[in-house]
Amino acid sequence: MPLFETESIVLKSYSLAEADRIVVFYTRDHGMVRGVAKGAKRLKSRFGSTLEPFSIVNLEYFLKEDRELVSIQRVDLVRSAFDIASEPSFLQAFSYLADLLTAIAPPHDPNETLYRMVRACLESKVTSAEDLAAISLYFEVWLLRLGGFLPDWSTCSRCRRSLAEFETADLDAEFEILCGECSRGRGIQKVPPTYRHAVRDALRMPPPGFIEAGRERREVIAELSGIFKRLITRAIGTDRPVERAFTLRAK
Ligand SMILES: [Zn+2]
Repeated sequence: MPLFETESIVLKSYSLAEADRIVVFYTRDHGMVRGVAKGAKRLKSRFGSTLEPFSIVNLEYFLKEDRELVSIQRVDLVRSAFDIASEPSFLQAFSYLADLLTAIAPPHDPNETLYRMVRACLESKVTSAEDLAAISLYFEVWLLRLGGFLPDWSTCSRCRRSLAEFETADLDAEFEILCGECSRGRGIQKVPPTYRHAVRDALRMPPPGFIEAGRERREVIAELSGIFKRLITRAIGTDRPVERAFTLRAK
């Protein structure tokens, strides 16, 4: 059995039998990995508190033949998740994002861009509900982008004309945008230029900058998050297998 070592983010863990836990990691070098931590539920476990969700760790594991569950050998803490875990609303928001990531990223399929994005979100300083909303939107935009599901909002999807910087557009049922001439009032929702600017910023800025800018655009963030949650629901819907739908493109 080959031994692997990689930096990883602990996403969640479940009880398994009397003393063991199943732990889900998003790893930098091997993508999503699920493993068994033997004895992790014992009081004096060798894993200590390293398996708390959202800890950043160095992980060592053996890959077994069936590849379903790896055997976790050693976990060293790089960064504790204490600041997230100590605030229930942060924990809840990050748990939702971890669930999205788990639904989207195929097992054993590394994507360093995605890994770095997730880590940067965890490390960004979140101090309020508004910051949390901004970081959640940032995460959603990037997941959609890397999954190939983020529509291009710079041009009208019908006539292909580039939208002007301050032009309002309409959202269609495919989550693409239409210019005023093409939509003729049939759009399902207005997309003011502030929405497009916020998406553009999420793709250009690191998380702290986006959080900072988000303090001036709370309503925009709430509206966009509503749109992208609907898009994510559809993208990971049951009509196509999740793992095929999300063959992550950008590597
Ligand atoms: Zn048009």
